[in-house]
Amino acid sequence: MNEKVIAVSSRSNEQIRLESERVLRNLMPKALEKPIRFPIAEILEFKLKKEYGFDLAVEELPEGVEGYTEMKGRLLVLSESTYCDNDDPRNRFTQAHEFGHVVLHSREITHRLTENLNAIKTYRKDIPPYKDPECQANTFASCILMPEKPFLDLMIENCSTNDIAAIFGVSYTAAKIRREKLEDKFYKKFRPH
Ligand SMILES: [Zn+2]
Repeated sequence: MNEKVIAVSSRSNEQIRLESERVLRNLMPKALEKPIRFPIAEILEFKLKKEYGFDLAVEELPEGVEGYTEMKGRLLVLSESTYCDNDDPRNRFTQAHEFGHVVLHSREITHRLTENLNAIKTYRKDIPPYKDPECQANTFASCILMPEKPFLDLMIENCSTNDIAAIFGVSYTAAKIRREKLEDKFYKKFRPH
């Protein structure tokens, strides 16, 4: 595995959130208002080509590789297990992450971006998170699967992180990270020191 992660344009979390909300406004505006399980698999299946000019393919991939995005060939590839088990929160997140590469990076990257569970981290120590395409795609996935307003509404209703994860169809960890980021953004300054 010698694929190097190359820095992309700087993007703040807020810029990525705004981009994700533009996408939702176009594809599924109700997801911006109500907590729903965003149908990422259907979006990839039926909208990717029409809206973004990317084909979706399913391939048998080596162990640990969940998918890749081929920017030049405008192709998003998922492994068989990542594609088939659409209810699995981890697969949903991977699908949304790949979608993030298409939305955010297709104009500035021309090489292949691979999701490899084992290898990827060692190659990007020198890239700050706001220029790292993998961090950006994770932030995008988090925002598209758990939009800010409905997530905050559930927090205000005192929903548990477990319940929130089940509603949005994400893992407990993904919901916890989202919750902490929103707490930092909206509540930190009001917390007693
Ligand atoms: Zn990636």
